[in-house]
Amino acid sequence: MSGLGKGITTASIGRLLKNRGYLVTAVKIDPYLNIDAGTMNPAQHGEVFVLSDGGEVDLDLGNYERFLDINLTSIHNITTGKVYRNVIEKERRGDFLGATVQIIPHITDEIKHCIHCAAEEAVNGGKVADICLVEVGGTVGDIESMPFLEAVRQMHGELAPEDMILVHVTLVPMDTMGDFKTKPTQHSVKALRELGLQPDIIVARSSDVLGPEAKKKISAFTDVPAKAVVSAKDAADIYQIPMELEKEGVADVVCNYLSLENREPDLAWYRLVSQEYTNRVTVAVISKYGIEDVYMSIKESLKHAGRALSTEVKIRWLDAEAFSDHDLADVDGILIPGGFGKRGVEEKIRAIRYARENKRPYLGLCLGFQLSVIEYARHVLGIPDATSEEMGEGTHVIAILPEQEGVNDLGGTMRLGNCDITLKEGTMVAGLYGRTTIVERHRHRYEVNPAFIADLEAAGLVFSGACGPRMEVCEIPEHPFYLATQFHPEFRSSPTNPSPPYLGFVAACKKNKSSPGER
Ligand code: GLN
Repeated sequence: MSGLGKGITTASIGRLLKNRGYLVTAVKIDPYLNIDAGTMNPAQHGEVFVLSDGGEVDLDLGNYERFLDINLTSIHNITTGKVYRNVIEKERRGDFLGATVQIIPHITDEIKHCIHCAAEEAVNGGKVADICLVEVGGTVGDIESMPFLEAVRQMHGELAPEDMILVHVTLVPMDTMGDFKTKPTQHSVKALRELGLQPDIIVARSSDVLGPEAKKKISAFTDVPAKAVVSAKDAADIYQIPMELEKEGVADVVCNYLSLENREPDLAWYRLVSQEYTNRVTVAVISKYGIEDVYMSIKESLKHAGRALSTEVKIRWLDAEAFSDHDLADVDGILIPGGFGKRGVEEKIRAIRYARENKRPYLGLCLGFQLSVIEYARHVLGIPDATSEEMGEGTHVIAILPEQEGVNDLGGTMRLGNCDITLKEGTMVAGLYGRTTIVERHRHRYEVNPAFIADLEAAGLVFSGACGPRMEVCEIPEHPFYLATQFHPEFRSSPTNPSPPYLGFVAACKKNKSSPGER
């Protein structure tokens, strides 16, 4: 079922193998009909994650990248939409030589082909992975999931036993007496077996650690050895989960099945993600949706930067349409995330003005960057009706990107993915990155209107990064920390590689907290 933590389980098992020196890659299967996540409402599915090649994908791929330090591409997210599109294109070309095109074998063959292609893609431009983790999203029994589970069943038969294992993630609830209920696991395994799939490992998700008794019971009903029934209890911090699974002996079980040597794990990553906090800061994130998953990468990036600075970052989620200046007064920093459409925009501009005028650490991302420019144009440059073309009437200091003019399709048509950015020597952002050429990921349709750049700069806003004619970063030199980026630095942050703008922001929050008098 959804929301159980299949993605984190997948990423964590991958981390265990990576810590043993194996090269790991990962694929996410989403059985919905959309070609990709780009057109989906984040309030329903969480954040749309953006890959280096511009793929707009499920947020689980963000977890894979962060846990495994890998760069994935669009082919690592397989959807029903993509599979059917490929098959229909082949049919139109005549590739099937007159055959009746059917779900079995044509769709299932295509699914297997997509999995193999993704598995064989070189990791980070180097070698092909030793192990590919494939996460099958959706629920056993869903009509949409059926062709994928059938393809998995076929693959299992085609590959040697030591070349493929099946991990089943199930919910083990606890009753009011504090006893684990194994019935849902028994039933879901039964449902899987009806489809010809026998799990090799069961990861039991529960609110507490499953003891040997519960494991034995699950084992008896499912034919999964008790050693391969793994307890995964809720964790406050997702980066602790690999360590928990390590303690459960998962790596040993996986290596055994796959005939891999269970090498001594490198413990450096565990140390990195469990460094002690000696400080704490509170950051306000102005949010338009009541769901934290919409801002998953931002949340994680703040955590990465915080860990690196021994600082716990508490997020105060403020509803864009219902916060007051009072809510901003006692936080250590203000962050305005990306977004689309008019709702909440005026309130976000109010928060940016507050941060600028009260000299509070401020980080603006994508829409946050555009709103910073609007706020500056209105209140410093003196254009009271300054706005973005996206929001309607007014003076458009933010305008549609020239190449976006006349684009009607919404799917996959934004300015997406990696772009090279040149940072201005001597600016704050160049200092944070420690260099003047960087690569970051994008997802937007609008940009700073070139007609206003000179006036904004004359009024004191510094555009400290650009990609050709496109403004990418702005800052205010006399402010303690005011930084906004057109790109999304959160898509490249990981515990091993915290993002420079986030590091700078959290460091500024820490400083702001320890010396509020300097404001
Ligand atoms: N809506 C803005 C644009 O399309 C910003 C997009 C974003 O924040 N991701 O340019």
